[in-house]
Amino acid sequence: MAAIECGKRGRRVVLLERSRQPAEKIRISGGGRCNFTNRHTTARNFISENPRFCISALNRYDQHQFTDLVKRHHIAYHEKKLGQLFCDGSSKQIINMLLEECAGVGAEIKTDVKIVKTEKPSDFRIHTNIGIFQAASVIVACGGKSIPKMGATSYGYDLAHQFGLQVVETEPALVPLTFDGAGAEAMKELAGIAVDTKVTFGKTTFAEAMLFTHRGLSGPAVLQISSYWQSGVPLTFDLLPAVRLGEFLTIAKSTTPKAKVSAVLSGLLPNRLLNALLSELGISGQLANLPYKTLNRLAHRVNHWQIVPSGSEGYRTAEVTRGGVDTRELSSKTMEVKSVPGLYFVGEVVDVTGHLGGFNFQWAWSSGHAAGQYA
Ligand SMILES: Cc1cc2nc3c(=O)[nH]c(=O)nc-3n(C[C@H](O)[C@H](O)[C@H](O)COP(=O)(O)OP(=O)(O)OC[C@H]3O[C@@H](n4cnc5c(N)ncnc54)[C@H](O)[C@@H]3O)c2cc1C
Repeated sequence: MAAIECGKRGRRVVLLERSRQPAEKIRISGGGRCNFTNRHTTARNFISENPRFCISALNRYDQHQFTDLVKRHHIAYHEKKLGQLFCDGSSKQIINMLLEECAGVGAEIKTDVKIVKTEKPSDFRIHTNIGIFQAASVIVACGGKSIPKMGATSYGYDLAHQFGLQVVETEPALVPLTFDGAGAEAMKELAGIAVDTKVTFGKTTFAEAMLFTHRGLSGPAVLQISSYWQSGVPLTFDLLPAVRLGEFLTIAKSTTPKAKVSAVLSGLLPNRLLNALLSELGISGQLANLPYKTLNRLAHRVNHWQIVPSGSEGYRTAEVTRGGVDTRELSSKTMEVKSVPGLYFVGEVVDVTGHLGGFNFQWAWSSGHAAGQYA
């Protein structure tokens, strides 16, 4: 996006890509269909030490402008849920669209390029395995640390350090959470079960599906909260957000005292999860024989389940990297480094991390577009 916008302004642009193919993350995104933006994008969908930093770029190139570009290229798309826009066909259509736009403005793309070092005696000099490139401006768009197998490197952060810039500590985000020991054993028993949940960490709550896996917890709700979670601190899950179970069981006990607790709850929770919960708490039999205290314990366990994950799957599977180049180092209008004229940082390498749902791409488009107006 930055290359396209620079090219439109008549700048001579070369894009240096380390991998054999450009835009590999677009290719694998959204299960191969690329969730390329979100209709409801606002600054509230991003995490950053400065939550207002992203507003300027998002306002000047928003989700509707990117969607218009997709329409102009006759790419069919649909809304899956919660404003998430996906290609009907393949994510390769988005890659081809961007490559066509680059070609249209004469932006040259060189792949399989290994950058050895970047210097700035006056202009920038980028030493690579295919020669030295001299440039008045450099836009660093080399992403985060997530999925090294796909070409992710820490080069953006290294370059920031080289120029003396602050980098907010990086962490894997939008990532499944894992458990050790007894927790892991319990999860294994439940692997494959999906439930709608409301998960809370501090003041942040997401209401979406979650999935028990062989190693822990995943699914959209868990990926979302993983971007906020801090190691050692519990997460709180409401496994039945639509039902206040305490009240439900109190009414059931007075109206159908002879009913078994398992029968009353079947249909509300998946059977395997329900059986595991009841056996963990040692609860069985007819409601009439279960004291209110016991029923409340069960209700609390379901509506207010607190658990401390041991860790996460890490950068190996994380969709994004939280943290990055400190936004205080950058102009929110141009994305240029305040202390190094001509050096720009855009996309995931910056300390702006989107929620799940197309927001990370929108940040890449918006920030790339902003830098492209000035570099
Ligand atoms: C599995 C998966 C699915 C995802 N799905 C979605 C989705 O559907 N919607 C969404 O909004 N977000 C999604 N994301 C997140 C999204 O892909 C990223 O946030 C986005 O691609 C960031 O764009 P970027 O241009 O900053 O970096 P990237 O897209 O990561 O691009 C950086 C490029 O720089 C290259 N590079 C790295 N180091 C060097 C170096 N030293 N020299 C030269 N080149 C280098 C890389 O090879 C890469 O091509 C997904 C991520 C993953 C991992």
